[in-house]
Amino acid sequence: MNSIYNMDIEEMEEYFLRHDDKKFHADQLFNWLYEKRVSSYEEITNIKKETLNNLKQEYSLSKLTLVNVEKDTDVNKYLFKLNDGQHIEAVLMNHNYGNSICVSSQVGCNMGCKFCESGRRKKVRNLETAEMVLQILQVEEDIKARISHVVIMGIGEPFDNYDNVLRFIKIINHPKGLQIGSRHITISSCGIVPKIEEFMDFPYQVNLAISLHAPNDELRSKLMPINKVYPLEQLMNTLKKYLQKTNRRITFEYILLDGINDQTTHAEQLSKLIKGINAYVNLIPYNATDNLGFNRSKTIQIMKFYDILKKNKINVTIRREFGSKISAACGQLRSKEEAL
Ligand code: SAH
Repeated sequence: MNSIYNMDIEEMEEYFLRHDDKKFHADQLFNWLYEKRVSSYEEITNIKKETLNNLKQEYSLSKLTLVNVEKDTDVNKYLFKLNDGQHIEAVLMNHNYGNSICVSSQVGCNMGCKFCESGRRKKVRNLETAEMVLQILQVEEDIKARISHVVIMGIGEPFDNYDNVLRFIKIINHPKGLQIGSRHITISSCGIVPKIEEFMDFPYQVNLAISLHAPNDELRSKLMPINKVYPLEQLMNTLKKYLQKTNRRITFEYILLDGINDQTTHAEQLSKLIKGINAYVNLIPYNATDNLGFNRSKTIQIMKFYDILKKNKINVTIRREFGSKISAACGQLRSKEEAL
């Protein structure tokens, strides 16, 4: 059955109009779902029984099954089972500025990045909007606190599930939904150029993070097959246009892989590549996983890399690490659970 959490507020208004009913029920229903957090239609008091019965026939209120939570200092890792038995992960991080959640957008991933656990098995399916919304609702329920920041950086490529992800953003941003400010929402993509083009017209001030991971086509194509389809020059030109048009924030993510992309020459090339683009670079210490054969760069090498970017006047930060003790690298819990 379709989930009620799949509908944004306009779709709910259309639903009520279609049923010769009042549009404002959509506001009321959003309030019951996202403010009062009801778990059954019976708890809803200001909408008439007949209307609720109709809704109940078509839209389920059911939740995801929480299979496992691992808790460590400032980080919780959640493993959820979906209605069809598939597993996904969400990670909650407690920052000094608030609670931030990393949500999954697909079961598996087709992008095939060589260093990434999620891509080891192909995409099984896209997540529905509801399955993303529920990751947030159920983690909030577990921690009994609100989440202020959302990054779509879990399992999956969000731009390969474009419509559902955008609807998800509309729902969590809505003043009657979860009220998460658009500037507190980040989509992370490996760089699917036509979708970046499309995303320029999405009227929300959300952030875009681009997984770069290499400063030249030869290396990037080896690590990330998507680069063979949309090489760096095309990607960079699109991002420049994106920045001009939207004035939104862009971050470049760059995982440091020992001996692969962490040398001085790479840092210099990277500086050149993004010189003049108003963005910053987030250097990510690699979270090594058993199956893939990559190692994390030595700390001294990470510092060197950082210093070169700084010297070249690139805005750069090193990502604070969460959860390496509890398999928090993308896809690791799912892999363990399903013995992939
Ligand atoms: N498909 C999207 C979002 C999911 S991956 C994307 O490519 O951006 C989120 C980020 O985690 C990406 O930058 C990805 O390259 C990175 N990542 C994947 N495996 C990792 C690992 N083992 N350690 C650290 N970062 C990892």
